Amino acid sequence: MKVVDAGQDVEKLRFYRSRFELRRDAKSEGRALFIEWYSRHLRPVLERHLSRLAPRIPVEHRSVQIRNLGLNWGTCGKNQDLYFHWCVAMLPHRIVEYVVTHELVHLVEKKHSSEFWSKVETILTAARGFAGWLRTVFYITYEWFLPGLSEIESVEFSMHF
Ligand SMILES: [Zn+2]
Repeated sequence: MKVVDAGQDVEKLRFYRSRFELRRDAKSEGRALFIEWYSRHLRPVLERHLSRLAPRIPVEHRSVQIRNLGLNWGTCGKNQDLYFHWCVAMLPHRIVEYVVTHELVHLVEKKHSSEFWSKVETILTAARGFAGWLRTVFYITYEWFLPGLSEIESVEFSMHF
């Protein structure tokens, strides 16, 4: 990422020639701009996975929302709304596919029961491996996503996955 002196005609944050460029006059908005950028780029990725995977589930989801979900990569709301953390944008595509599958299966199985996992594995055979991978990166990435987390002593380090 590079802070650049650029005019108003240039986007405040853009991915240009293999790197991020943040306009100097937008530096104070940096974090919000990155979240907005990742959210915008995550949406079509999620839609692509959903259009392929959703037909495997007998319940239709109502909406897809991208937010800061704190300690969750994704959640399934009670009205069949699917929520994904904007940080999912930084995960490899195979892992995003797993996160999408995981939330889709929650439309029919709320708990992480053996039925839940067998349904997930029917769609994605390597699911448990991906779940393990996510648990590992959680420890590495959360200090980055939630600065100051290490100062909180009572956070239980268990992800939704
Ligand atoms: Zn879950």
